Amino acid sequence: MKSVIFIAPPAAGKGTISQKLIDLGYMHISTGDMLREEISKKSKLGLEIEDIMAKGNLVSDEIVFELIKNKLNNLKSSFILDGFPRTINQAQMLDKLLNELKIDNYEVIYLDINLEEAMHRALGRLSCEKCGAGYNKYYDQMKPKVDNICDKCGSNLIGRSDDNEESFKVRFETFVKNNAPIKEFYESKNKLHMIDATKGSEKTTEEVKEILND
Ligand SMILES: [Zn+2]
Repeated sequence: MKSVIFIAPPAAGKGTISQKLIDLGYMHISTGDMLREEISKKSKLGLEIEDIMAKGNLVSDEIVFELIKNKLNNLKSSFILDGFPRTINQAQMLDKLLNELKIDNYEVIYLDINLEEAMHRALGRLSCEKCGAGYNKYYDQMKPKVDNICDKCGSNLIGRSDDNEESFKVRFETFVKNNAPIKEFYESKNKLHMIDATKGSEKTTEEVKEILND
C-alpha cells in the first residue's frame, strides 16, 4: 500500500485511522515522537533539541527535517506522516526531500469535517472516572443511559476536553486557515484526496484504504 500524509483538523479522527494503518504494518512518523526519541538517545542532536525545548523555544524546520530524513532513509514499509507539514514552507521542503529520495508512492489525504461536528466530537467526550468507559453526550448511540453516570459501573463521568466552545472554534478555524495553502499545494500536484470524515471511523478507514491501495 502507498504511504500517506494526513491533513486533519482537530477531532477529525486521525488517531483512530492511523492506528488501523499501523496495525497493518505502516511506520508511524510523528514529529513529536521523533524529537522525544532523539532526546532519549542522548545523541549530539538530541542534546541540542533538549536544550532548545528546555528554553521553551520551537525546534527549527532544519532539525525536524534532519530527523524525518533519517527515518525516510531507513524505510522498511509504507509510512504515515503525522503532524507534518504544518506550513507551506515545510510542505515545499518535504517535497524536495521526497524527490531527492525518489519517494513518490504516497498520497495526501485531507480528513474533512465541519466545525459543528468536530466540536461535538471533541467537547461531548466523557469518560468514566473509575472504569474508563467512553461516552459522548451529543450522540444518541454514545450517550450514557443516565446523565453523567457510567452504564457499566455506575461511577461518575468526567469531561475530557481542555477546550471550551470558543477555544475549540479558534483552534479549528486557525487550522483550516493555515492549511489552505498546503491543501492547494498538494492539489496542484494531483496528490490531494478529500474525504468526508463525518461518516464514522469504519467507513472513513475503508475510504482511506481504497485510496492507498496500489
Ligand atoms: Zn464506569
